[in-house]
Amino acid sequence: MSTLNQLPVVVIGAGPVGLAAAAHLHERGIAFTVLEAGDTPGAAVRQWGHVRVFSPWRYNVDPAARRLLDEAGWVAPDLEALPTGAELVGDYLQPLAQLPQLKPHLRYGARVEAISRLGLDRLRTAGRESTPFLIRLADGEELLARAVIDASGTWGTPNVLGASGLPARGESTVAAFLEHGLPDVLGAVRDRFAGRHTLVVGAGHSAANTLLSLAELAEAAPGTEVTWAIRTASPSRTYGGGDADALPARGALGSRLRAHVDAGRIRLLTGFSVHALTPTDGRVSVVVRHADGSEESVTVDRIVAATGFRPDHSIAAELRLNLDPVMGATRALAPLIDPNEHSCGTVPPHGVNELSHPETGYYAVGMKAYGRAPTFLMATGYEQVRSVVAALAGDWAAARDVQLDLPETGVCNSNPADTVTGEGCCGPAPTAEPAARGLATGISGGLLSTPLNLVTLDVAPAGAQAGGCCS
Ligand SMILES: Cc1cc2nc3c(=O)[nH]c(=O)nc-3n(C[C@H](O)[C@H](O)[C@H](O)COP(=O)(O)OP(=O)(O)OC[C@H]3O[C@@H](n4cnc5c(N)ncnc54)[C@H](O)[C@@H]3O)c2cc1C
Repeated sequence: MSTLNQLPVVVIGAGPVGLAAAAHLHERGIAFTVLEAGDTPGAAVRQWGHVRVFSPWRYNVDPAARRLLDEAGWVAPDLEALPTGAELVGDYLQPLAQLPQLKPHLRYGARVEAISRLGLDRLRTAGRESTPFLIRLADGEELLARAVIDASGTWGTPNVLGASGLPARGESTVAAFLEHGLPDVLGAVRDRFAGRHTLVVGAGHSAANTLLSLAELAEAAPGTEVTWAIRTASPSRTYGGGDADALPARGALGSRLRAHVDAGRIRLLTGFSVHALTPTDGRVSVVVRHADGSEESVTVDRIVAATGFRPDHSIAAELRLNLDPVMGATRALAPLIDPNEHSCGTVPPHGVNELSHPETGYYAVGMKAYGRAPTFLMATGYEQVRSVVAALAGDWAAARDVQLDLPETGVCNSNPADTVTGEGCCGPAPTAEPAARGLATGISGGLLSTPLNLVTLDVAPAGAQAGGCCS
């Protein structure tokens, strides 16, 4: 055995996919260490613990993890039920992390700051593949590894509010008014929203969840106002497939949202591209700039930026990565997860072949593997790590035999009504439309390719929009 193979595989992140990797590594008899920045397993999931996911338990439990849990007498939840993020952690990730096969190999409060090769910077080629990885933690400690499975997710790097991918003018000056992701508006942070006017920016599952919670809060707390801003001309993609959605919970979410908008309880602003943000008398003014140069503004108390997330590849800056310039996924994976062509349910099976970089032995997996694509499902991540770990074990037949059983859905390009041209949004409609439709996974802030809006601010109710999202 070479010196390299005597070192453990380091897994970064103890989220659903990092812990699944640990279970597969255990099964394969490969030594491993999981480094988790938070204090607990599922630290990122806990932050959206109040949100109910739309994929049932049967898609959310990794098979290798399930085998270990079953051996330990785990009582599996109802596989058709939909857990909240908190239940995902409490009923699955926490018990998994407590198993004696995993627990001794998990380190909390261990934030990875950088990854390199011992003694080699990115320029040096000779001996690279046989040189251990060097992993530096935020406290300065350094570890060596034979391979790195980076399952650190994207939760820590939300997208900016500015419509061009750059921060809006003044975005940093209004941080006190701004929440990213999915604040618990009915629970832990209720006081920040009750009796206030909140602007939710984004068109994905996260935005929909926050809007529904705010609408519920508005019923209980007088003076609570809710405004929803999207870049496109139509919210139809967010409304999803209704009764036809392959994930019924997601369809129902969209239908409830539509009902609130139609009833005027949520004010919808379409064609909304944030240009500038200014603190104004304890509130914040949000300026929208239109294609013709004209500007409009709305003044609110709080803003929820549900604009999605992007990967942070900076920890791997000294490694040789081959990233797709659009998606921030590997070049081989990018076309398979492109939200212009795929929903989360139509992504083809993929594994080590698609996840490999020129840097042998480094694999970004899970949510991070998808870069900016909003099409990720846990089930996909579980198959990724099964394949990667099989490859690390030298079992290339298993590594390449990738399979996926995903809920079919067609979030992208599947609704001709989305545009005035009859094409799917931002591109030609696919030749075969999926039977069911729905919105993207919780990380979406809308399609990546949705261009800067070229339509006017529209405060009319849904159904009265002008223009197409790609016009
Ligand atoms: C609201 C919401 C709803 C979703 N609903 C569904 C759904 O219904 N079905 C579905 O399949 N998917 C869903 N997803 C998408 C996805 O499956 C989840 O986001 C999932 O948690 C991704 O798992 P992960 O392990 O890749 O990353 P994460 O869960 O984000 O875990 C990454 C871990 O890495 C740690 N970490 C980060 N940086 C470092 C570092 N530098 N060093 C060490 N540790 C680090 C974090 O603390 C975290 O614990 C949803 C996502 C969101 C946000």
